[in-house]
Amino acid sequence: MVIAKAWALKKHFDGFPKTSDFDLKKIELPNLKDGGEQKLLLESVFLSVDPYMRPYSRRDMKEGDIMIGTQVARVVESKNPAFTVGAFVVAGSGWRTHFISDGKDLQLLPSSWPESLPKSLALGTIGMPGLTAYFGLLEVCKMKPGETVLVNAAAGAVGSVVGQLAKIGGCKVVGCAGSDDKVAYLKKIGFDEAFNYKSVKSLDEALHKASPDGYDCFFDNVGGEFASVAINHMKKYGRIAVCGAISQYNDSVPQKGPYVQLPMIFKELQMEGFLVSRWNNRREEGLQALLKWVMEGKVKCHEQVTEGFENMPMAFIRMLKGENLGKAVVKV
Ligand code: NDP
Repeated sequence: MVIAKAWALKKHFDGFPKTSDFDLKKIELPNLKDGGEQKLLLESVFLSVDPYMRPYSRRDMKEGDIMIGTQVARVVESKNPAFTVGAFVVAGSGWRTHFISDGKDLQLLPSSWPESLPKSLALGTIGMPGLTAYFGLLEVCKMKPGETVLVNAAAGAVGSVVGQLAKIGGCKVVGCAGSDDKVAYLKKIGFDEAFNYKSVKSLDEALHKASPDGYDCFFDNVGGEFASVAINHMKKYGRIAVCGAISQYNDSVPQKGPYVQLPMIFKELQMEGFLVSRWNNRREEGLQALLKWVMEGKVKCHEQVTEGFENMPMAFIRMLKGENLGKAVVKV
């Protein structure tokens, strides 16, 4: 018998999440039965903390539910011939150390995954955030060589891949992030221009200076005031991929805009929201492309690894506060 640890949402977040909003539970897992049921016992090795957990908790969860989320897990026991003991999978089983699955929702790591590559990358650059960058740029921004791409939260899991893929695609890339260390990192990984949006005197001036001709594509991870200023720097027929709105996730009172209609009309812009799950049928294509670029050294990955399952709430809160460089993950 295995006792799993799991983090539950004790209290709906009010404003910024606090560690007291979470509850650590112990859950006794039943033994796997013989005959008929093709079940598996898995143990989480790395767990992901992601911004979407904040808005989705409000939309989809009730107090007492186990926190939603994804992990890289190892098969510990198997009554299912499709998964051998010791295999690694990506699962969406929430903040749990151990869990039982029938295998239906498990994704094996790509068979070409090199032994030398950290498996945690399956939660980041070669996982959901990387796919978000890939499909958002190709299918929503429809970037073309020679164009200028703007991305915010640029040193994070999605943003850092957006910038590097745009460079591979022959674009000029401008990134913004919330600290000087992050800005230095962006320059190191090939961004043409980068600035600290927290310390510039004027966002308007900084965006103009980084690209006086404006932007063809804007990959927006932040929304709110940043997006309201950036929209005025779009070129005619520019494309805006609305990927995230992290500046609004912790608001108790919704922010009020400037509104987008006038720049949308006069510059004949396209603005499209998207969820990466739209391209689930092309997941393999995206993962193979990302894996190849990582192995070729064309896409660099940084991870912010927090040790210890008991530190999951803290890792989540720190990521929301911007204390992560690259993908925030927890190592059990
Ligand atoms: P990150 O790794 O980028 O971490 C979040 C970052 O957001 C922080 O590091 C911080 O960086 C920045 N941030 C936090 N608060 C603010 C704020 N008020 N204003 C500006 N920046 C802020 O997370 P991800 O890469 O995983 O996600 C980035 C965005 O993409 C999120 O909005 C997320 O919801 C969205 N997303 C959307 C998906 C989709 O399918 N549409 C899929 C995956 C992610 P800094 O120090 O620079 O402020």
